[in-house]
Amino acid sequence: MPQTLRLILGDQLNPRHSWFRTVDPSAAYVMMEVLPETGYVTHHVQKAAGFFAAMRHFAAQMQAQGHRFIYFRLDDPENRQSFEDNIRSILKSLKFERFEYQLPDEYRLDRQLSIFADSLGIPIAVQDTEHFLTARDEVREFFKQRKTYVMEAFYRHVRQKYGILMENGEPRGGRWNFDAENRESLPPGAAAPAALEFRHDVSDIVEMLARMQVKTIGRIDPANFPWPLSREEALAALDHFLAHHLPHFGRYQDAMAEQHPFLFHSRLSFAMNTKMLAPLEIMEKTLAYWEDNPDSADLAQVEGFVRQVIGWREYLRGIYWAKMPEYAQLNYFNHQNKLPQFYWTGDTRMNCLKQVITQSLDKAYAHHIQRLMVAGNFALLAGVHPDAVDEWYLGIYIDAIQWVEITNTRGMSQFADGGIAATKPYVSSANYIHKMSDYCVSCPYDFSKRHGENACPFNSLFWDFHETHRPLLENNPRIGMMYRTLDKMGKEEREKIRRQAALYKQQIDKL
Ligand SMILES: Cc1cc2nc3c(=O)[nH]c(=O)nc-3n(C[C@H](O)[C@H](O)[C@H](O)COP(=O)(O)OP(=O)(O)OC[C@H]3O[C@@H](n4cnc5c(N)ncnc54)[C@H](O)[C@@H]3O)c2cc1C
Ligand code: SF4
Repeated sequence: MPQTLRLILGDQLNPRHSWFRTVDPSAAYVMMEVLPETGYVTHHVQKAAGFFAAMRHFAAQMQAQGHRFIYFRLDDPENRQSFEDNIRSILKSLKFERFEYQLPDEYRLDRQLSIFADSLGIPIAVQDTEHFLTARDEVREFFKQRKTYVMEAFYRHVRQKYGILMENGEPRGGRWNFDAENRESLPPGAAAPAALEFRHDVSDIVEMLARMQVKTIGRIDPANFPWPLSREEALAALDHFLAHHLPHFGRYQDAMAEQHPFLFHSRLSFAMNTKMLAPLEIMEKTLAYWEDNPDSADLAQVEGFVRQVIGWREYLRGIYWAKMPEYAQLNYFNHQNKLPQFYWTGDTRMNCLKQVITQSLDKAYAHHIQRLMVAGNFALLAGVHPDAVDEWYLGIYIDAIQWVEITNTRGMSQFADGGIAATKPYVSSANYIHKMSDYCVSCPYDFSKRHGENACPFNSLFWDFHETHRPLLENNPRIGMMYRTLDKMGKEEREKIRRQAALYKQQIDKL
């Protein structure tokens, strides 16, 4: 048997991959922590520590099962700090005759490894990661004959393909979509059950990051790292979610509350994106749990969760592979502004942003609506360059990997793709934030004012955004109504809004 070296990347921690079905004495696996991966953006310290801790755990677990592992820690003296150099050195010294790797999820690494593997001059093989429900090119193929991409159509395709929430070829309950029932704010005084948080000690990794001068953002309690670091822990987190949070998942998935950063969300994205958990098994376990406990949740809650995991996640990944690398350059509105300084500190008087950014720095986590309708909304209204917005999102969240970060940020949130991922820009005035959260109650700004003293910046910036981009947006059927409202305001009011927005943009770092 030729001696084979198999590379495992930091987001390929799938112990159920067919590589590990049996112990193959002719194969060795290599994993490595390298400096370039810590520095292409400034990562949250929990993200850097979490990836390395989960990688180390994975290697140790696989080794205990008898698989041969070669592991480079970031501070190993033999670590050449590059995938290519480390692999070349092992191939040479240990006389491997074949090289294999799993399909990377990032375009950058996909190109890099493909070029590298071709240069090796030995037989190579590339395997699927066996993680996703759809192929890389499935979105592109599915929409080949159509003008636009629509998540709903692809989502229905995936549900039919896997028979998820289907009965005799029809959607269970007679409807595909329960979105309209899933938009409630959290009633005053209500609380969400506690999230399952782990208490890992990752002090050695945090100390190593500092010693190796890895620049990070955010905060960490190294003795109480809360995220799951193994498949077993990820499964426990899923069980906890099904028992405690699924019952209200859909209903409150858009809600935001100062005292409840996680609400009813699953916090499974880190475990999923590192492939400790696969989306299909999450679906199987969710449906099995619901079948055993039919009164625990209604269909709208379950469908809401299914839609996120097999709908949005697979759809956005498909867009990534259909549109990269051009996607990373798109800037539909030609926005050029800098990201306000307070995105790195949380130091702003705008309470919604203060809460969401501070929470993100503390926990490396914000839920979808916080990311979309607070942090992303403001960046878009403020005309920030999508590169700067991407850089922030790619660094700050524990689950941020480019395929899912950029499509959500540049696409869904910033509409920089001109409407590939989403059908309209997700922007709002203070109205939406006030309706869906308790942030406005304790904010020094007045959510009801468009201009004048303490007027909420979201209001003037919202209308100014529509005014500025009228030529690009007016004919969009989903936002035509905004223009009718704007036109009814009258010239004087519109001028006041314009002046207020200009003033706020000038003072953006001080808001
Ligand atoms: C601007 C912006 C940037 C984002 N960046 C990322 C990112 O870097 N990585 C990431 O995994 N998600 C990203 N998302 C999507 C979403 O916000 C997170 O997946 C979610 O908040 C993770 O928390 P959770 O596990 O508690 O999710 P839940 O609300 O419990 O949802 C369950 C699962 O569904 C999947 N999911 C839900 N919404 C989406 C979505 N829009 N796209 C893809 N998968 C989804 C996730 O795997 C998630 O774990 C981003 C969203 C926005 C608006
Ligand atoms: S008033 Fe405006 S700035 Fe303050 S929390 Fe509400 S939306 Fe945010």
